[in-house]
Amino acid sequence: MAEKKTEARGMWVVRTDLTSPEKITTAIKYAVDNNFNFLVVQVRGRGDAFYNSHFEPRAEALEGQPADFDPLKMYVEEGHKAGLQIFAWLNTHYSWESATLPKSPEHVVNKHPEWLMRTEKNEYTLVGGGETEGAYTCPSNPLVKQHVKNVFLDVVKNYDVDGINFDYVRYPNPEFCFCDGCMSRFKAQMDKEISADKKAELTASKDRLAYTKAFPKEYDQFRRDQITDLVGQIYHGAKKIKPKILVTADVFPGSDDAYNRRFQDWKLWMKTGIMDILMPMAYAEDTEKWKKNVEDEMTARGDRLVYAGLGQWQITAESCIEKIKAGRKLGADGFCLFAYGSATNDGTDDAYLKKIKAAVFQQKTKLPKTPWVK
Ligand SMILES: [Zn+2]
Repeated sequence: MAEKKTEARGMWVVRTDLTSPEKITTAIKYAVDNNFNFLVVQVRGRGDAFYNSHFEPRAEALEGQPADFDPLKMYVEEGHKAGLQIFAWLNTHYSWESATLPKSPEHVVNKHPEWLMRTEKNEYTLVGGGETEGAYTCPSNPLVKQHVKNVFLDVVKNYDVDGINFDYVRYPNPEFCFCDGCMSRFKAQMDKEISADKKAELTASKDRLAYTKAFPKEYDQFRRDQITDLVGQIYHGAKKIKPKILVTADVFPGSDDAYNRRFQDWKLWMKTGIMDILMPMAYAEDTEKWKKNVEDEMTARGDRLVYAGLGQWQITAESCIEKIKAGRKLGADGFCLFAYGSATNDGTDDAYLKKIKAAVFQQKTKLPKTPWVK
């Protein structure tokens, strides 16, 4: 299948590749040399900032750099000069992953431990394990929503980014969140819908989980609503500041897992127009499985775009090429490799990218149009 004239071709650039000016220069050079046209740069990793934030502490990984080094600013300025679009990638609720606390007292984990997501036993974790990557903030807490919104919109206001990119815009798994705040907010919602008798019975219960046990399906939906509400608030807030900014999200591939286990209702986001570009993290090694991952998004997208993710770090360049060809047949609007660092041996060689260029990225392309963005 011939190359399209418009196709998005990008890479996720993990925050370890934002820690020096030299790394940024190299990433931009490798991207441009190999006919990529956008980069998704991770500027909020664990409740910290690889840019000049008004709301969160500077990332500890930047300690060796001068205080005026601003990785996002440099990516935007140098990337634009080189013809790349730059999307600011922010982890939404995922905030920490170590038993050692962050150094800054201003870090959300230190300043607001009461904002962290809790289990049915009312416990939170700082370290990762199983399906829980570490500490997340509670998605139903109005103060958390306001904070996360402030963080995203701060980037939109102060940087000339082409897009923002949500990651971890979900729950880690169904074991969260059962904090007291979630329990009381869910109770308040259900009390409007249930009979006086049922309300009296549940209110009298000594079990703090009485409502979620009585209404598990409704609690799943309550959780979905929290994520969707935040996405909608940030979408509209960002467009108000910069109407042309693109709002994108890294989502769990396959709507079933996303919807039922992560409470990430991306189908609804596309349908109601609070997402411009869906970027499924389709990291399957097997190409048939990969196609299935992407098909769901293609069906649900409506008039919006899908940039298909590729698990570059665990597949050969040949497999990557096979998937790009398959994705073109499915009508994908673009591709995004996870990740730049693994594709270039940590910024030391672009042999992998050269193979892709030679096979399927021979011509430079423009990013697809987004006619609904006025
Ligand atoms: Zn909670």
